[in-house]
This record gives sequence, structure tokens and C-alpha cells, in this order.
Amino acid sequence: SKRVVIIGAGIVGTNLADELVSRGWKNITVVEQGPLQMPGGSTSHAPGLVFQTNPSKTMTLFAKYTVEKLLALEKDGTSCFNQLGGLEVATTPERLQELRRKHGYAQSWGIEAHIISADECINKYPSLNPQLILGGLYIPSDGLALAARATQILIESTRQSGVRYLESTLVTGIQTENSHVTGVETDKGVVPADIIVSCAGFWGVEIGAMVGLKVPLLPLAHQYAKTTAVPHLVGREANTRINAMNAELPILRHQDQDLYYREHGEQYGIGYYGHRPMPIVASSLGVTSAHVDEKNMPSRLDFTPEDFAPAWEATKELLPALRETEIAEGFNGIFSFTPDGGSLVGQAPHLDGFYVAEAVWVTHSAGVARAVAEILTEGRSSIDIAECELTRFEDVQLSPEYVSETSQQNFVEIYDIIHPLAPKVSPRDLRVSPFHARQKELGAFFLEVGGWERPHWYQANEHLLKTLPDPWRPVQRDAWSSKFYSPIAAVEAWKTRHAVAVYDMTTFHRFEINGPGALKLLQYLTTSDISKPVGTITHTLLLNSQGGILSDLFISRIGDHLFQIGANTATDLAYLLRHARKQSQRSPSLWCQVRDITGSTCCLGLWGPRALDVIGEVSSEDFSDAGFPYMTVKRTSIAGIPVTLFRKSFVGEFGWEIQTSPDFGQRLWDMIWQAGKHHGLIAAGRAAFNSLRLEKGIRITGSDMTSEHNPYEAGALYAVQKNKKDDYVGKSALRSAATRASARRLACITIDDSQSMIMGKEPVFYQGKAVGYVTTAAFGFTVRKPVAYAWLPRGLERGDKVEVEYFGTTIKATVVGDPLYDPEETRLSK
Ligand code: FAD
Repeated sequence: SKRVVIIGAGIVGTNLADELVSRGWKNITVVEQGPLQMPGGSTSHAPGLVFQTNPSKTMTLFAKYTVEKLLALEKDGTSCFNQLGGLEVATTPERLQELRRKHGYAQSWGIEAHIISADECINKYPSLNPQLILGGLYIPSDGLALAARATQILIESTRQSGVRYLESTLVTGIQTENSHVTGVETDKGVVPADIIVSCAGFWGVEIGAMVGLKVPLLPLAHQYAKTTAVPHLVGREANTRINAMNAELPILRHQDQDLYYREHGEQYGIGYYGHRPMPIVASSLGVTSAHVDEKNMPSRLDFTPEDFAPAWEATKELLPALRETEIAEGFNGIFSFTPDGGSLVGQAPHLDGFYVAEAVWVTHSAGVARAVAEILTEGRSSIDIAECELTRFEDVQLSPEYVSETSQQNFVEIYDIIHPLAPKVSPRDLRVSPFHARQKELGAFFLEVGGWERPHWYQANEHLLKTLPDPWRPVQRDAWSSKFYSPIAAVEAWKTRHAVAVYDMTTFHRFEINGPGALKLLQYLTTSDISKPVGTITHTLLLNSQGGILSDLFISRIGDHLFQIGANTATDLAYLLRHARKQSQRSPSLWCQVRDITGSTCCLGLWGPRALDVIGEVSSEDFSDAGFPYMTVKRTSIAGIPVTLFRKSFVGEFGWEIQTSPDFGQRLWDMIWQAGKHHGLIAAGRAAFNSLRLEKGIRITGSDMTSEHNPYEAGALYAVQKNKKDDYVGKSALRSAATRASARRLACITIDDSQSMIMGKEPVFYQGKAVGYVTTAAFGFTVRKPVAYAWLPRGLERGDKVEVEYFGTTIKATVVGDPLYDPEETRLSK
């Protein structure tokens, strides 16, 4: 069997060894620089609080599995999880609202949760100061993980199953051949390997550097302190109800002051995120010594009491009983932060067989380990990992400066109330399209995505609000859904449907594939027949081997061996690059090259019933259906500017994406702007775009559908070619999916009162029972009500009434047929 080497025997590495062994893999070696009985990484001192619920479904499901696994992991009659429950308290009205939102996530992802009153909080946690508490969120299945103990038990059990552990052995390098790993170099010799998984925690950057891989994590120190004995708890160890974890009360979070708490027998443990970020360079910590103990390990730095002072004051307010104690001990413990707070899981894009599972909390450890084991043994994870895919970052996001700044910001904001549309505070203006200057003149409101500035609406359109026909007038929104939103979006949607609007499409990923093997590669990877004539555009899917949706792509055949791809994420690029490399290695005739051309091109979407009039001002070519049919591409020039035109639409209106190189960008904008003057042209932003695309039923991979869903369930058969002759990844799985009835489907719903907004990820109820969750939502300006997509049980059909929970309130909704707008596609032709 394949020789696997796991670097690091923390909670992640040992769980991975266990997950692989339990899947029948035999040849596994774990290399650990520290002594096994206490390796000295973050796991060795983790207090082990497991709050499972997270806005991310992936992370929540990872946590849920970790709880289940650690609960079942027993030795001497004691499990590795103490299910005390988790209590998050609110001391401000904003936090109470936030906890209601979180209650929604819990229900969406299948975690039992309760919003409880202030009195109930005191009941569950009598030492809380009743004067401070407004209410709380209680999750019965949360609790304390005995991470260090679990690690020891897993080492023991996997050892019995044949896993080899090399302790006090430092990994110093990685051997490779032909873009594949072959072995791990250590200070005690080379360990041959077919697969290497770096579970090195915050040392991940150093291990990555050994193979030229930028691992975007930043080690930061975080303060944890213990009090002296609390007088009323003295002697409690004698109490048999207190088990090995020395705790009885739920784990507690006081996020308004960046604090969390657990009991340690008679003492309290206090964790604090309110202090200044304290970044660390792992390599500066030196080599782990052969003797590690509780107080002496590389991941544990000296306590800085002055940083903890505000925490101690806030603690005495929240838990008055602790006024009778003092800080007995504390430390600044190191663990990993990332630019977006997600873990880093997956294969290096340039090196086969080299995997990473880092920036993982104890909370998510077993879930992540299972995902990696599934990827290694079955080629895919049963839980979608896009949100923690190693390759999800853009190149610029891998720079040390970006990683450092954004990871520190993440530390600072870890317990903050973050709106789903909130942009990064910094860095901003990192990537701008060549239209940026003009957009600013029009008062664009920018949000940030992948380092790009992306207009959401234009203040210059505000004066058109008064000209909006009555039915198009935007409805009143609640405070939360009004954030990062403007009613101007209604104007921009209206103009797109009735005149013409220009959208900046530059931030969408564009890749180029060329070479003799390009067609073969795309035929093998996608669900459609790409061997169509030059000039054709195909909307298609990338599937995994189980038929799950990895991405949807627009592939334009520009030449016999030249294709342009409109894609979703940087992960798509890594996927294409890896497969192109593999195919090219087989034979020169199969060679092809994949390039990211996003930054070396720019693109405008010109859409609306008067788009043809606008383009007619700058070109004499025939752009009607006859001269330039739907889903075709051509290279030409307009207004003297060389462009590639793509006849497709994300908003459901006639028009094109017009692409050129950035040097021509501003001129292209100006010429289109000039040409549009007499035809009612406006610039429109992402807020209108999102509304229009939802009405048109266009699904977004990653939000509406993921690798957990097949195209039948997701209603994405429009991107699958029936009876495609060539074999492709996922074909046989898709064939068998066609023959079995799925239990769920992606359905369109609309809100009955025509105005209550939802934002996405809310739970959906049918006859009082949580049955699914919303993926994405927007106000549908054309259909005059909020529109959403939701995963619902198959039995729910058009006309069925459901309810959506939004901050604890119930919003009535109806399942409807989709697309809501122009199902006959009459708007797309001229
Ligand atoms: P580690 O435990 O650090 O393991 C990595 C291993 O790799 C180490 O043992 C290291 O020695 C080894 N290694 C590295 N480089 C090499 C090399 N070159 N050669 C050989 N071996 C190498 N998480 C929670 O979920 N809940 C909490 O309440 C919580 N509280 C925390 C409180 C503090 C103070 C801190 C610091 C962290 C806390 N965390 C918590 C985070 C959690 O501890 C970590 O995220 C988790 O333990 C990481 O596990 P790991 O296995 O990835 O890394």
C-alpha cells in the first residue's frame, strides 16, 4: 500500500493516522520533532473548548464529527470529551441579536441549540453576574475536549495497528522527483514516501518552504491564564461528579469582552483575544528539546500580565466570585491564524503527493483528519472543503505581508459581530480594474473580493430613484440587511431590465488553456462536449469522482487548440494546472498550458434591451442573433479597440462580455459610456447583479451548490451534456445518480410578505421542523419580492409553504418554480 508520512503528532496528525488506519491503510509513519508523550505543539496545552457552531457549514460539520469521535474515544472508562454544554452570553443587545443569528446557523447545520433568557443563563451558570446578562445561546452538545489525552490514546491505538512513530525526529527537507514527493528528510535519515501530509500546526510555513509552497498562516500568541482556587470550589475534586476534566459547568464565552472560560477543578481558566496581536516566526523558536513539560514547550511563551489587565477587570465583572481570586499563572500560547479564518487543507498545486492539514483547531481536528483521509483513499471528502481548500487564495494573498496583516486582523476580530458582506479593513485598493478611476468618479461603493475592489452600486445613480416606477420602489429593510446595501441597487436593476447597464466583470477568474492537449484535457474534466466549432461557448461543470460539483465553467473555444475559461475560484486554476501537468507528462502530443489571465485582461458586461443600440454606435458589425448568436465568442474591435466579445449573460438580458487588455480598459469604458449616452446607459454594481442572477436562476458554485451535491439535485443539468461519448471525471457516478431518487434538491423560494429580507444560511422549516437551509438570497426587484435558493427535502414542491428563521423571527415563504424571470429565454435574443 502507499507509503504515507505524516509530519506532526498533534491532535491533527494523530487523528489522521487513525482515520487512515481505520480505512485499511497500513504503511504509515508519523514524524514528530518533540517527545511523543508531550510533543510541545499547540495541542500540548490546548484548554480544549469546543464550541461547534460557526457560519461555515463545513467547519460546523467538522466540529460535530470531532465531538462524536472524541466522545467515543475512551480509556479506563473515561472518554476524551466532556459534554458539559456550551453557553455564550450576551451583555449587549447587538450580541443577543448575533446569538439569534447563530442559533439559526446551528439549526441549518443540524446542531441542537437554544436561545435562553438571562434567568436561564444564571440557572445554568450561577456565578454569572445577573446585572450584566441579557440572554444567551446554549448548545447542549458542546464541551471540553481532552486533546492531549486523545492524542496519547490515538498514538497508542494506531501503534497497535502498525503505525510507526519517530519521535524527537526533526523533518529537515522533502525529496521529490518529477513533481511528486518521494521521501522525507529528517535529522536521523530519509523516510521514503508516496504521500506526505504536513500536520505541523504553526510550523506549517517552514515545512511548506521546504517544497516552495507558500502556506498562508501566521502563528500568533494568545493569552490563557488560571486563577487561584475559587473559595466556594475548594475541595471539589472529592466530588465524584467531577470527572477527569475537573469541570462541571458549561464552557462559557463572553464575546463582548473577547473572553472565554472553563473550570480547572478549583481554579478557573480564562482565555483572552482582546490583547494586541503578537505574531511569531516559528523558526525563531529553535528546535524542540528532548524534554518538554507543561511549563516548558516551544508553543508556550511567557505571560505578559500587562496585556491581560483588561481581561481580568472584565472577568471580575462577569464572574464576581472570581474577585476573591488572583491570577495564579498564565502563558502566551501559540497557534495559527489565516487570512480568512479558515483551515488549510489540501494538496500542493505544484507537487503531487504533498498535502497540508494546518491552521486547524482542536474543535475541527477529527473532522479535518477524516476529510484528508477520504481525499487520500477515495479521491474526495464527503464534506465539501472548498472553504478550507489550501489553493483558495489568489497569488497576492499568499504574500507574507498580506498573510500577516489579514491574519492579525482576524485575531482582533475573532469574536466580533461580522456582517457577511463586510469587507476587509485593510489592505484595500490592492487590485483595481482599469475602470476604477471612472467608477470612483461615479461614486462607486466598493467591497473587496480576492483582493479586488468591486463596485456594489454607484452613488451617481441616486437621482434616478425618483424616476423609478412605483412597483420598482425598494422596500424598507431591517437594520442588518441594510448594511452594505443601498436602494440604488433597485435603480440599477430596473435600468438593466429596461434600458442598458455596464457591469465591471474584471474580478471574475479568467484562465487560458492552449496546446495540442487542451481539448483532450477539457473533454476529460468536464461534463460537456467541448469539441464544438471554434467560436462556441459551453457552460459546463467540473465534477469529482462521485459526481459532486466542484465548479461550473464557461469554456470558449477561441482557436483549435486555444480555450478561454470563465471560472469561479483560484482552486479551479490549481485543479486545471495539476491535471494539465499530469496529462502533459504522458506525451508531448498531450501537452497543454494553463494560464491565469485574470489580471492581464479586463472585462465589461454590457446588458439590457438597448445593448444592441449602444454597440451599434461603436461598430458597424452585425451583433444581432443572426450575426453573432447566443453562446458564441468572437475577436474583433469596437471603437478601434481590440476586444474579445462573449455573447452570454449572467443577468438574463441580451448583451455581451467585452474583454480587452488593461491598457485599453479606460478607453473601452469611455467609448461605451459615450455610446450609451443616448440609450440610457448606466453603470451598475454587484448588488443589482446578484438580484438579477437569482431571478434568472443562475446558481453559484460554492454557495448554492458544492461538491456535496450532484447536478440532478442542484438543478444544474443545463451544464451537463446528455449522452456525451467521451469518458470524463464523475461520468459513471452521474449515471448512477440519474437512476436513484435523491432525498433533497435546490429549490427556489420567495418571501410571502414581499419584503422581509434574508441573507443566506438561514434554516428553513416545514410544518415546524427544520428541513433545510438557505444558500443565497436577494431582493428580486423584477419579481418584487425577496428570492432565495434553499436545500429542501425532495417532497416539497411548488406552492408548498415553508418558514425561514431570521434572527429568531419567522418569515413565511413559498416554494416556487424557477427560474422566476424569463424561463423561455426570450430576453436573450434580438
Ligand atoms: P500541533 O499540536 O502544534 O502539532 C504540530 C506538531 O508538528 C507539533 O507537535 C510539532 O512538534 C510538529 N512539528 C512541527 N514541525 C516539525 C518538524 N519540522 N519536524 C517534526 N515535527 C514537527 N483550539 C480549540 O479548538 N479550542 C480551544 O479552546 C483552544 N484553545 C487554545 C488556547 C491556546 C492558549 C492556544 C495556543 C491554542 C488553543 N486552541 C484551541 C488551538 C489549538 O490548540 C490548535 O489549533 C491545535 O492544537 C493544533 O493542532 P495541530 O495538531 O495542528 O498542531
